Amino acid sequence: VENTFKNIISHAKEYGFVFPSSEIYDGLQAVYDYGQNGVELKNNIKTAWWKAMTQLNDNVVGIDAAIFMHPTTWKASGHVDGFSDPMIDNKDSKKRYRADVLIEDKAAEYEKNGDKAKGDALVKSLARLLEANDLKGVQDLIISEKIKCPVSGTSNWTEVRQFNLMFSTQVGAVAEDSSTIYLRPETAQGIFVNYLNVQKTGRMKIPFGIAQIGKAFRNEIVARQFTFRMREFEQMEMQFFIRPGEEMKWYEEWKQVRLKWHKAIGLPEGKLKFHNHEKLAHYANAAVDIEYEFPFGFKEIEGIHSRTDFDLGNHEKYSKKKLQYFDNELNKNYVPYVVETSVGADRAFLAILCNAYTEETVGEGDDKKERVYLKLHPALAPVKAAIFPLVKKDGLPEKAQEIYKELRMDMNVIYEERDAIGKRYTRQDLIGTPFCIVVDYDTLKDNSVTIRYRDTMEQERVPISELRQKIRKATSF
Ligand code: ATP
Repeated sequence: VENTFKNIISHAKEYGFVFPSSEIYDGLQAVYDYGQNGVELKNNIKTAWWKAMTQLNDNVVGIDAAIFMHPTTWKASGHVDGFSDPMIDNKDSKKRYRADVLIEDKAAEYEKNGDKAKGDALVKSLARLLEANDLKGVQDLIISEKIKCPVSGTSNWTEVRQFNLMFSTQVGAVAEDSSTIYLRPETAQGIFVNYLNVQKTGRMKIPFGIAQIGKAFRNEIVARQFTFRMREFEQMEMQFFIRPGEEMKWYEEWKQVRLKWHKAIGLPEGKLKFHNHEKLAHYANAAVDIEYEFPFGFKEIEGIHSRTDFDLGNHEKYSKKKLQYFDNELNKNYVPYVVETSVGADRAFLAILCNAYTEETVGEGDDKKERVYLKLHPALAPVKAAIFPLVKKDGLPEKAQEIYKELRMDMNVIYEERDAIGKRYTRQDLIGTPFCIVVDYDTLKDNSVTIRYRDTMEQERVPISELRQKIRKATSF
């Protein structure tokens, strides 16, 4: 299992999906860059989300708010006081760890060794202590469980402290007239502060939603599992504004809608599940995660939260501006309640990549060989089709170029004439291109080409006149 994940990470790098950030300087921990194929795949995921949210719902519109926001935003949202993780340092290795993660790892170890009950009990105690903000209790638990530092191997720990996850920086040219601002740790607040602007200018009626895709930043203490936990990442969030008291209905509704979306983009039902939160975030009265079964276990890719009027109510208090909505039907003013759906673009990407990565043995006897390909939904594939002339002469390249130039007006396609045809197929398999189109000598006579399918490796003869329509259909949802 660990090997599969390692193979996926090397594959992502080798074929232009994900690179470590500033790699020539040995990288920057928990920061990654998307390469030429990665950016296409990620854009396709983002477009699929954007369309599903804004285009297919007539009461959801989008915005694109700035990353920088007035610093009071983060006081009102609770992030200045409440957005922190409990951390602990090992005095010998001088390494910093998340105290809760150390305990969760210990619980996982109990489970792995056949003592699930003990693991579950440990997780429960941890949740109780965090709920009560009992940091001394968390430290005592680490000591009584004899948890050791993975680096030094000792249990010489400091006390547990809260560590705020927001990155701060300065605005203004000189220190004297500068003030501290934060890089947003979630995109949601840009939606809350704009909700009345959108409602009024768009004449929106409750219930309605505002969607946004954008970067968020968190100074995560433990960075691990590749792009699963990054310090700079992208969120796709939607806040749905509703009448107070109707939150459970909408919460249930959005849970189902969002689960369906993950299935539609190609994640198998058996690898998706809901996970209810034991411990609710400071803003929520109900919360559930959609988890995907990564090679390292079931982990969150999306959160659905009933945020009540927590955010808008606090923004009213701090800004001293009225953030109420006048409901014609009820003939009254109120601060709307909010149900939020929040999915990480990078986590959706990683789930899609893990799910698509396929190693299989093909052929028989002496022809037996390993084949690796990405079984991506054709609508998400970075390249939709590759066009190959069988040989580099006799007018075949010209004919293939003609087809290539027509198709590229519509979709991302590539033209390749180097190397043997088998090698060219392999290169496309590795990046998940669903269709390879081959122009051969017969093409010059019958105006047909051969399509070779990525997953089945089967071939089919298709008239050039039908090509565009056929591929377009196959590469949409
Ligand atoms: P976790 O418990 O894994 O830290 P979270 O519950 O803090 O996540 P939310 O605040 O609910 O996450 O954020 C919504 C979504 O944003 C998550 O479901 C995830 O997909 C994404 N996300 C959050 N933190 C990160 C991160 N450090 N790197 C990549 N994606 C992230």
